[in-house]
This record gives sequence, structure tokens and C-alpha cells, in this order.
Amino acid sequence: MDIALMGIGKIAQDQHVPAIAASPDFTLAATVSRHGSVPGVAAFSDIDSLLAARDDISVISLCLPPVPRFDAAARAIRAGRHVMLEKPPGATLAECHALHRLAEAHRVCLFATWHSREADKVPVAKAWLADKRLRALRVIWKEDVRRWHPGQEWIWEPGGMGVFDPGINALSIVTEILPHDIHLTSATLDVPENRQTPIGAELTFYHPEGAEVSAVFDWRQEGDQTWTIVAETDAGTLTLADGGARIKIDGAAPPPADDTPLSGEYPRLYAKMARLLARGGIDMDLRPMVHVSDALALGHRRRTAPFTE
Ligand code: NAP
Repeated sequence: MDIALMGIGKIAQDQHVPAIAASPDFTLAATVSRHGSVPGVAAFSDIDSLLAARDDISVISLCLPPVPRFDAAARAIRAGRHVMLEKPPGATLAECHALHRLAEAHRVCLFATWHSREADKVPVAKAWLADKRLRALRVIWKEDVRRWHPGQEWIWEPGGMGVFDPGINALSIVTEILPHDIHLTSATLDVPENRQTPIGAELTFYHPEGAEVSAVFDWRQEGDQTWTIVAETDAGTLTLADGGARIKIDGAAPPPADDTPLSGEYPRLYAKMARLLARGGIDMDLRPMVHVSDALALGHRRRTAPFTE
């Protein structure tokens, strides 16, 4: 299938273009971007030009930041195209629900992707936790914003989500691996005095069996970077490290499972999109987004030192 990629920035170049190039299901037939392009691929500067010129392209993958993404997605869906959304699926929950309804009305596929759920050890963690009683779960997601988001002003603007841009990846894993739904009870947000969005956040959650569930996200981490989830249960402690790439149970790595034919988060996302297209329908789990939205609604703001690149 021919596919178009919109928003040729960091993640499109780093992950989407190579994943599509290696995909047995998709061929990159066009890009839509004001500044970016991919050598040898037809380039459009706005989505309406693409939609008007290329009705042979039935699938569009959107790598824009969350705020401009809704408009592009709605235009693509109204034009009868299937749509794949980078995370987070929108800037607000209401616009995600609107896209869901629009996709149903136009009978197209809509896939709200969560790339971190495709990390190697996430399914192992989910399977192990399925029959354990959780006592506590701690998320520690600490990285250096200057290293991972150089020059990206949109992350500091309303709707850019600040530290929740990576933090939502942790929440996408937590909501995938826990057998019970949790919900946010309190949050503290550190917001630089010259910015609109948080650079740090501490969250606590209600768990139906009384487990203590908390998360700390921080964008001020220099040196070693930490993307870790620790789950203490009645049958031992599970540690998911490096964003889900490594797992230990009581300090030991479990034996590797049978190799899956695909490796890599983004190749798995495109394979999932191909399967969704084959069966039809919508894959849009908004639970990670609900937690971020709740944190922004309930969060106690602390003004912190100005942030400059
Ligand atoms: P980025 O480098 O800023 O690229 C986004 C591209 O979208 C820009 O290059 C820009 O291309 C286009 N764009 C259109 N309207 C825009 C607007 N109003 N403001 C800014 N850019 C606009 O961002 P990114 O890191 O690729 O992130 C894009 C999405 O991918 C985000 O939702 C992010 O959470 C997700 N993501 C990022 C990473 C990562 O490591 N960076 C990892 C996983 C997921 P033109 O100027 O050419 O139109």
C-alpha cells in the first residue's frame, strides 16, 4: 500500500522513514511538510494539495506535534483516507473523541499509536503481572530535554504537554501492563516561569486493590537517562528498564521468549497498522491521555527556574 507521511521532523526522519522503507506492507509515496522532505519521494507542502493530487494514496501517517495534528487528521478522514497518529493522539481528549466519531462516520481506519508499548519486554511484563497482586508501582522517567528535544519550541507551548510528551510513553506502558485500571489522585507540576508547560511532574494514582502507584517525570536529568518502571508484587519485584527494552524479575533477567519476526517499536506499529487495515476499524486507547489530562486539571503548579536551551 502507498502511504504518505506528514510532518517530516525528528521522529519522522529517525523512525518512520526507516520503518516504512523496511515494511513489507507500505511504500512511502509522498510527504507533506513545510520544510522537510525525503529524497526521491514526492513532496507536498500542505495536506489539501496531497489529498487533491493523490487519491491513490489511501493511508496517511501523521507525525506532526499534537496541536496541528487534529486539523490534518480531520481533513484526511473527510477525504476518505485511513489515518495513523503519532502519540499523543491529540492535544485534548475532546478532539480525539471527535476524530474517533469522524473515522466511524467515514468508515476509515484510525490508529492512535503508542510506540513505547511495542518495546521488547512490555508483553513479558504484562504477562508476568497478569496473575500477581500489585503492592506498589513506581515510574521514574528522567531525561535531558536539551538532548532529546533540541529546538522544539512547540513542547513548551499550550498543548505541547512539556514533560508529559515523554511521560505519556511511560503511562502508555503502565496502562498496557497493569491488569487493573488506575486513575490520577494528585499531581505536582514544575513549570518554568518563562514557559507554559511542565518540566517536571510527580503523580499519584488510585489503584483498586490499594497498591501505591506513583510516577515522577523530569526533563532536567543530565548524565545517565532513566526510563524505569518498578512493580512490587506479592510474588516478587519486576523492573522494566530502558523504556521497556530490558526486564528483570527479582534482579534476574527472565529467559528470552521465542523470537518474534519483527524487532523495533516502529516496524511493529506499521505491521499493526497493516493488520488494522486488513480487518477495518479503529484502534484508539485514550487511557494514557486521560492521565495526562487529569494531571493538567488537578496539578498543583510550582513555578521553577526559567528554562533556556
Ligand atoms: P519535530 O521534530 O518538531 O517535527 C514535527 C514536524 O511537524 C516539524 O518538523 C514540522 O515540519 C511539522 N509541523 C507542522 N506544523 C507544526 C507546528 N505548528 N509546530 C511545529 N511543527 C509543525 O517533532 P518530533 O520530535 O518529530 O515530534 C512529533 C510527534 O512525534 C510528537 O507528537 C512527539 O510526541 C512524537 N514523538 C517524538 C519522538 C522524539 O523522540 N522526538 C519520539 C516518539 C514520538 P514542517 O515545518 O516541515 O512542516
